[in-house]
Amino acid sequence: MPRQLAEEGACRFDPDLHAGPDVFIDEPADAKAAREQVAREVCAECPVWASCLFYALDARPEAGVWAGLTSEEIAALARGQGVSTPTPREAA
Ligand code: SF4
Repeated sequence: MPRQLAEEGACRFDPDLHAGPDVFIDEPADAKAAREQVAREVCAECPVWASCLFYALDARPEAGVWAGLTSEEIAALARGQGVSTPTPREAA
């Protein structure tokens, strides 16, 4: 993660909320959905949301919630599929 995001991103207060236990172990689907929704809400208020979105589109993370989007949503957006570029509120 770029330094600006690590220092200014709202997720610095709870990185596990965004990366989640699914990075390491299986996470029940309902728990994952709930965690991702809370992470989306945190991202919606993040001061570096736009920088995070551009970073994620370039880095293509394999897990987690970035700029309010899951890794699958980021991959689809990067391929030009799905939604147009979201605003923080739309991503949440
Ligand atoms: S937009 Fe979300 S994932 Fe990106 S830096 Fe902000 S809180 Fe973290």
